[in-house]
Amino acid sequence: TSRRTDEPTYMYTSRRTIGEQRISVCVRKRPLTNAENRRGEADVVTAHDGDSVVVHESKEAVDLTQYILQHRFNYDEVFGEESSNVDVYLKTAFPLIQHVLNGGKATCFAYGQTGAGKTHTMLGCPPQRQGLYALAARDIFTQLHSTQDCGNSAVTSHVYVSFFEIYCGQLYDLLDRRKRLFAREDGHQVVQIAGLREVKVESVNSLLEVILWGTGERTQGVSGVNPVSSRSHALLQIQLRDSGHRATGRMSFVDLAGSERAADSRDPDRLSRMEGAEINQSLLALKECIRSLDQEQSHTPFRQSKLTQVLKDSFVGDSKTCMIANVSPGHLATKHTLNTLRYADRVKELRGGGGRRRPTVTPSPSPEHDQTSSIGTSASRG
Ligand code: ADP
Ligand code: MG
Repeated sequence: TSRRTDEPTYMYTSRRTIGEQRISVCVRKRPLTNAENRRGEADVVTAHDGDSVVVHESKEAVDLTQYILQHRFNYDEVFGEESSNVDVYLKTAFPLIQHVLNGGKATCFAYGQTGAGKTHTMLGCPPQRQGLYALAARDIFTQLHSTQDCGNSAVTSHVYVSFFEIYCGQLYDLLDRRKRLFAREDGHQVVQIAGLREVKVESVNSLLEVILWGTGERTQGVSGVNPVSSRSHALLQIQLRDSGHRATGRMSFVDLAGSERAADSRDPDRLSRMEGAEINQSLLALKECIRSLDQEQSHTPFRQSKLTQVLKDSFVGDSKTCMIANVSPGHLATKHTLNTLRYADRVKELRGGGGRRRPTVTPSPSPEHDQTSSIGTSASRG
């Protein structure tokens, strides 16, 4: 029953109106991988109802028996393991596209532990399975062409793409051999990244080519040993410009560093500790900056990290953001999964409109000695 990637977007009607909210927070659970299945990992995450997630946490009592705690969280949208990238796209980035075509700014973040599915969501496995980058670009091109076909040359827009990463608080241009870049605030308090390469693209395919090229640069890394991708944030920006080269709308996608790395700030290894501290700082600042979008707050703490500094205009004015928190289903990841869900919950916490449902923790109705092994079936059936 999976949706085809060429499904026309006009068939979409939203249950809620993510496009109208300034901040939306969604959760995506990935399926157990083959390796996890082979290791016999239990699936401890139930994603159901379209807006709630339950994590079944196995705990040891004083007498060493096991009992299960159920943590329930609610979000704007919850995507289960059967959801495709198209399903996720239609309820996250797609509602933001019109805002961008009208000249606005929108940002979509993929948050989560390394291996939880951030890159799968953003990039996918093109060309067979496209991610949000390509799906969004496809709709941007389609809509631009249809406006231009109507002969409205006053609104002619061109599409430019830039792609860079932030590692240890430093910027590297993924489209220019990882050239070091510097961000500065100009006289109008606009943050500019001097020398950032912008490539003009005319089609989804050429955009994908550029992205794949940049992604290849990303894995080379500075220290060589571990994949840098889990320790850096990757920012892809689709910038619209009018015929006078003036910036109009902009859609940004951020594939964040692995959230578990924030705990590396206590690592005995000096480099890991430095990387961890930087990631910790940027994820904390990010949460505060997104939250400030929904408060009448005069001060947005965007200077607290390089990530939030370069994204400053995503947190001011009438910008919109969408966060997709990715979680792994396996019991070995329970601690990180709960951390991710709590982070995502805090992002939407101060949101106006009232009626917020707090996360709940309940002990399982019938604690038993050996419940862990049966979690998989009960959890996945929900
Ligand atoms: P991250 O970028 O968060 O570190 P990845 O996107 O690389 O994680 O995902 C880790 C692994 O899980 C990859 O092999 C990926 O193909 C697989 N995976 C992630 N999400 C899904 C999903 N929704 N469906 C199927 N496989 C997935
Ligand atoms: Mg990744």
